[in-house]
Amino acid sequence: MIKILANDGIDPIGKELLEKAGFQVDTETIAQDQLAEALKNYDAITVRSATKVRKELIDAVPNIKLIGRGGVGMDNIDVEYARSQGIAVVNTPAASSLSVAELVFSHLFTGIRFLQDANRKMPVEGTTQFNNLKKAYAKGTELSGKTIGIIGFGRIGRATAKVALGLGMNVLAYDLYPSESEITLEFQGGKSVSIPIKTVSLEEVITGSDFLSLHTPFADKPILGAEEFAKMKKGVGIVNCSRGGTIDEPALIEALNAGQVSFAGLDVFDNEPTPLAEILTHPKISLTPHIGASTNEAQERIGTELATLIIEHFKK
Ligand code: NAD
Repeated sequence: MIKILANDGIDPIGKELLEKAGFQVDTETIAQDQLAEALKNYDAITVRSATKVRKELIDAVPNIKLIGRGGVGMDNIDVEYARSQGIAVVNTPAASSLSVAELVFSHLFTGIRFLQDANRKMPVEGTTQFNNLKKAYAKGTELSGKTIGIIGFGRIGRATAKVALGLGMNVLAYDLYPSESEITLEFQGGKSVSIPIKTVSLEEVITGSDFLSLHTPFADKPILGAEEFAKMKKGVGIVNCSRGGTIDEPALIEALNAGQVSFAGLDVFDNEPTPLAEILTHPKISLTPHIGASTNEAQERIGTELATLIIEHFKK
């Protein structure tokens, strides 16, 4: 029987699919330093973002035939090395795009109405304190009619554009690879409308947007730093649900303190899982602990897709 260790868990639907196909699936989480020993009893491992599958681990378990990543980013796996050793590496790139895009808007709606700060300061004692907060949060803005700049126009970037268009926003998009595509919005009653979006330069996106959202893979060098913040419209709101490292965090804090950036929404950080204290306590930053794909719907899609890929691989 083929044995799979789902070390960061797998949705029950995925587990059921695998078991029905005759696989054994164990979902207990083994600590990173004990994985090499534990994996000797398995044919495959699945991970999300927590477990690291590096060269040393791969070398220690030549019995492993497949590494599955439930999600998109594979920066926790030495993919090329694994493949060079004849190990299949699969992921589920499209399953979480909509959930990540919706989290972008959770952060945007939070930032434009100061919810991250209001939630920390409420409840209050007494009328004076209540009225002071009422004043502090009086200058909210609307998203509708504003321009969102999307950096990285792949699956999640496009899903973000779709939600933005549905809210009546304008979209400016930039990608390393320029493209012209149609974003299709479906409405109730079976009606749909397609909006053409042609990518523009990074400069245009940075200077022309009221809000910016990052959707690129991990970068060695930040895409947004002091130089870019200085070129943005004053009071821009920034969301990062991509990967830590794509924003220069100290420069972001400076831009927030100077009022150049009015708020930031961050799901990913340089120092995961222990982000900078200055980030964690900043009144203008809305925070989530890397939960872009953490919805029931995305996890069901991820589990189903991962199980299907594993079954296809071993039954070939
Ligand atoms: P994708 O591959 O479909 O799209 C990424 C796009 O970025 C591509 O079109 C690529 O050409 C472009 N790109 C790469 N480097 C660039 C650069 N320097 N400047 C501009 N464009 C660049 O990937 P995706 O599925 O849209 O995922 C995007 C990111 O979201 C990944 O980093 C992924 O790890 C991250 N992600 C985060 C979560 C979360 O929980 N927060 C969940 C899923 C994915």
